[in-house]
Amino acid sequence: MDYRSIHRRSIDDRDAFWAEEARRIHWNTPFERVLDYSRPPFARWFIGGTTNLCHNAIDRWLPTQADRPALIYVSTETDEERTFTFAELHREVQRMAASMTSLGVGRGDRVLLYMPMIPEATFAMLACARIGAIHSVVFGGFASVSLASRIEDAAPTLIVSADGGSRGGKVVPYKPLLDEAIRLSAHKPGKVLMVDRRLAPFEPVAGRDEDYATLRAKHLDAQVPVTWLESNETSYILYTSGTTGRPKGVQRDVGGYAVALAASMKHIFCGNPGETYFCTSDIGWVVGHSYIVYGPLIGGMATILYEGTPLRPDPGILWQLVERYKATVMFSAPTAIRVLKKQDPSWLTKYDLSSLRALFLAGEPLDEPTSKWIADAIGRPIVDNYWQTETGWPILTVAHGIEKTPTRIGSPGMPMYGYDVRLLDERTGAEIGANEKGVVAIVPPLPPGCMQTVWGDDKRFVDTYFKSIPDRLVYSTFDWGIRDDDGYYFILGRTDDVINVAGHRLGTREIEESISSHPAVAECAVVGVADSLKGQVAVAFAVLKDPSIAATQDARLKLEGAVMAVVDKQLGAVARPARVHFVGLLPKTRSGKVLRRSIQAVCEGRDPGDLTTIEDPQALEALKQTMKA
Ligand code: AMP
Repeated sequence: MDYRSIHRRSIDDRDAFWAEEARRIHWNTPFERVLDYSRPPFARWFIGGTTNLCHNAIDRWLPTQADRPALIYVSTETDEERTFTFAELHREVQRMAASMTSLGVGRGDRVLLYMPMIPEATFAMLACARIGAIHSVVFGGFASVSLASRIEDAAPTLIVSADGGSRGGKVVPYKPLLDEAIRLSAHKPGKVLMVDRRLAPFEPVAGRDEDYATLRAKHLDAQVPVTWLESNETSYILYTSGTTGRPKGVQRDVGGYAVALAASMKHIFCGNPGETYFCTSDIGWVVGHSYIVYGPLIGGMATILYEGTPLRPDPGILWQLVERYKATVMFSAPTAIRVLKKQDPSWLTKYDLSSLRALFLAGEPLDEPTSKWIADAIGRPIVDNYWQTETGWPILTVAHGIEKTPTRIGSPGMPMYGYDVRLLDERTGAEIGANEKGVVAIVPPLPPGCMQTVWGDDKRFVDTYFKSIPDRLVYSTFDWGIRDDDGYYFILGRTDDVINVAGHRLGTREIEESISSHPAVAECAVVGVADSLKGQVAVAFAVLKDPSIAATQDARLKLEGAVMAVVDKQLGAVARPARVHFVGLLPKTRSGKVLRRSIQAVCEGRDPGDLTTIEDPQALEALKQTMKA
């Protein structure tokens, strides 16, 4: 059957479609119903079925491929390389699970992971899944304030962390940031489990911190049976940024997620058991959850966990790994490719990439020059795919496992099975025809694998995602899009205040709050500005309480550095603005709203648009002058 008919069927005959896909995973108890949609927009998938993500990722493969590679750990930071077979991964996960249980973690408890890209991070995620604990992985690049708000919201029983990570050969200590975050948080975890890599010396907190090596040694022969979970129990929470400063905990189920991932491995990624999947993301992001850890293992594939940059020890490292491990599927972000574009192109032809079926790219818009360059350079198909933390797997791409639909440069493709995607007018909610810009929306129920709700806040889930389009209960992606005559979609950027820096999603409000906490700053505005390498960078405009303190160029530079240091310390270097400009006032509407879109337009050298409501037209002009100075 052709792809379009399959997509149609997935919407029109939804239950039958997903009942078939559900056969791709192991159910301990079969489900009674495919979908319960009695309480829109909350969807419950595979009601009554019991299953387990860890079982599907590991135990299920033991009878056929216990001795095949499951987790391939490569660190070009510490020069380690180690392969765990499915049997070895099974053992390590049980050791971790037993250690967690001994610290009082049980079903439904939260375990927060603040970890670098080391095997123990994967063991910990899978161990949680095994015992029915809910993990919440916080990206290791976030700092104490970001971490504190997540600890407070998830209220974990246990935090698993490490002494430090390493990036570009530089050690990044984690423990001081974690200790500070726990100090800032109103919720205190009972225990902290520390993996000591001996990279960054630290003082354990007596009575709270436990050493993983010591605990693991007590559980070498641990046998921890799988806890069978009802399909709609929570597997994990993953925080993401939105319009407000407070991060949202995206909550995901067990059964729907497992089915969605298993189906995507077959239909989208065309990966088979026994092959190798190489995803260069980080476990702190949704791509890492779905396509470093769960997806490949559920599909019976070996997965590469890579700690390092695309440039060290040399710009050929990613391709060298593809050759060495004969990866058939690779997944990366456009930024990583743009970084490589600046290097000697001979690095790309040095290795045998014939094992690779395709290179998948996601997380940010894939620009045409980058797409063409990488396709020519590696001679393999490039597949763009568009999705979000909220959805857990691609919304738009091409499903080459179903039909070899041609890709179109600049477009991530078409709606995936299960997603009833529409383009809507943001003001009226009316549907928009081909070649017109609208908001990318999804008619609920959202398919399996997508978020169930916002952790602890059903109202926020409904209000945030389902109420932004007038008169219609539809899920808004908060992205602008356009569809061509053949049904290919193109993504044109966010409708809200979220920016995308090197594939990392950041809320400008969070950065503004952090900058405003500097004692010299009265108020500020942060906007995303187009950047040829990172896609976008954050640029800040701050009004000082006492402008005279930044009267000289020297003083301005010093203060700019001090403001950046505050962001580094509170949110992490990922959120650091590329520039902080000091201005006399911010362009605002007469009702006091900061005109962020006009500021952004000015920064990008575009027309600032309709300024009839601006309070002081001089403000934008002054801002332009400041940037030129
Ligand atoms: P995240 O939740 O961190 O995965 O970020 C999701 C957002 O990243 C989306 O709402 C888009 O704005 C952007 N995004 C992700 N993938 C793509 C893509 N392939 N093309 C364009 N934008 C993308």
